[in-house]
Amino acid sequence: METKWKSSFILALLVIGLVVLFAWKTIWKRTSPPFETKALPLLPIRHEHVDPTSEFPDRFALQVAVLWTAPDTSSENPLPLVHALKEMGIPFFITRDLGQALKHRLVILYPSVDAHTFNQDQAKQLTTFVQNGGSVFAQNVFWGGLRDLFGFREFQPSRKRYHLAFVGRDPVMKYLNRPEEREVRLGSDSYREIFWSNGYVLSGGAVALARFDDGTAALLTNMLGRGRVYCLGLSLFDVVLRSQNNRDFEAERHYVNWFEPGADVWLLILRAWYETYAGDWVRLATMPNGQRSVLLLSHDVDWQNSFVPCLDFVRLEKASQASSTFFIQTKYVNDANSKAFFWQSLEILRQLKGGGSTLGSHSVIHSRGFNKFDLGSGQEAYANYQPRGLGFDTASGATVFGEVRVSKELLDGQIPDQNTVFFRAGHLRVPPSLPEALERSGYEFDSSFTADDVLSNFPYALPLNLGFDEDSEIYEFPVTIEDEEPPGFAKRVPQALDVILANAENEAVNVLLVHSNESTQKAPAEQDLLRQLPEDIGKSDMLHFAQFWKARDRLTWTITPGSKSNEVLLEVSTKDRVEGLTFEFCRPVALVSSGATLSSNKHRVILPEVNSGQTAVIDIRLSH
Ligand SMILES: [Zn+2]
Repeated sequence: METKWKSSFILALLVIGLVVLFAWKTIWKRTSPPFETKALPLLPIRHEHVDPTSEFPDRFALQVAVLWTAPDTSSENPLPLVHALKEMGIPFFITRDLGQALKHRLVILYPSVDAHTFNQDQAKQLTTFVQNGGSVFAQNVFWGGLRDLFGFREFQPSRKRYHLAFVGRDPVMKYLNRPEEREVRLGSDSYREIFWSNGYVLSGGAVALARFDDGTAALLTNMLGRGRVYCLGLSLFDVVLRSQNNRDFEAERHYVNWFEPGADVWLLILRAWYETYAGDWVRLATMPNGQRSVLLLSHDVDWQNSFVPCLDFVRLEKASQASSTFFIQTKYVNDANSKAFFWQSLEILRQLKGGGSTLGSHSVIHSRGFNKFDLGSGQEAYANYQPRGLGFDTASGATVFGEVRVSKELLDGQIPDQNTVFFRAGHLRVPPSLPEALERSGYEFDSSFTADDVLSNFPYALPLNLGFDEDSEIYEFPVTIEDEEPPGFAKRVPQALDVILANAENEAVNVLLVHSNESTQKAPAEQDLLRQLPEDIGKSDMLHFAQFWKARDRLTWTITPGSKSNEVLLEVSTKDRVEGLTFEFCRPVALVSSGATLSSNKHRVILPEVNSGQTAVIDIRLSH
């Protein structure tokens, strides 16, 4: 009896064990079939960026001279200015030598001028330079020895200035035509203090071009002899780079879907200053093929029913000669937020890719807590990464590396010819370690911020750790317009169009994000917007434009006199293959060589394709 009982107990245990094993295997199989993945190497951070004075050398006369006045290389570096000038396509070099700077027509003093920057003799040289027709753009001039040159009696430092308004007229404000550009916010007044600013009190013939909320001058200009100076009472560190890193004091007036040029105005002022005082200027245009602006199309695919409607978007975009980038959530685990859906989506993803759409990653679990995730080890792989959303904001077992790497591993392994280099975070939540995680996992581009939030409508190099010391290799393309804010995209097409036109006036970029959860309302609305786009505003998927932007940003170019007085030689070397590079000329162009073409207004020269590692040499004859 006892033995019989024992054996049936063992049998029962065996049966239970088998059932459990079978059930576990079935569940596991459901959520995680044995996917083909592509192993990712963990790349080192490249730290390519050396001393700015050797990274940006003196090459040709038209370059703006940036005099780096910081006492040593560990002090405030010129990164904010490098961002501004490169984004605007203004040629420049960086030096610590005043004599070398003054050989050029335009000089920027960065980051500040205090009693230790110049001796009396140098102050005299600078003054003579302006009297003879040179132009200086400076920020935070504190030294009494230069008060007469810049035209101020005193300045008042404060951390309690929250607004700034441009006043009067001056050529450097020629791009600031919209109300959102004539007045900007420096920070939300819910903060007791924000960054330091210096309000100037003017003297002599100096004129205020912008005033802080306390009435002191934020930007002033003064004339001396044949030259002119400008002085800014704040730093591009705070109004450009801080904004682009989203470390601003909530200076944005909206989060998304509106025109917010709060950081761009400073770039546009520098562009206008260059175009006003450089004489016969040439600038690398921001847009390819002589266009005024571009609308970049993207879709976030982050729900099990969001895959089928993708095909409708593709069809309607094709009818408008457009294509888009789909950001794919590679959800392969069941958790509190949703069931796994990646494995069901593969057929459609392969179809999208095969049809010419481009694909990016939209993470694995799409957590609203992503910005709080740890970086992780970099060893996360499909075989060992098991993240679970516990709610919208919380997760277990999830890391930044895991979300970035494993989604790429799956997409690249499962979709023929796919190499995922574009990322967009779920809920647009950005952890400071994202640039590092992306760069070390082989990504090149990100689109996880909104343009309003970072106050920037131009793409930019994303600094490592969202800090202020050096750029990562990643470029950021912030989202301008999305579909979810009430009353929904279909009812906001005129508003979207107005934002696009405002950006086109600045030669800036627009990124449209439309979730593919439904296509019956959203796809026709998108088509409606595409139909209303003016001819000179391009439309592109995100990846192809991003590749253009990266090549443009890493370009080396020079413009030097040719053999005759009205001829110039444009030399362009590129690290990456690039099509449609456009240079804008002050004077109309009469003739171009080497397969380059001219825009109808004769001011833009469009280069033929230049291959990676090549140098294109274009002879250009200017009109008289
Ligand atoms: Zn999403």
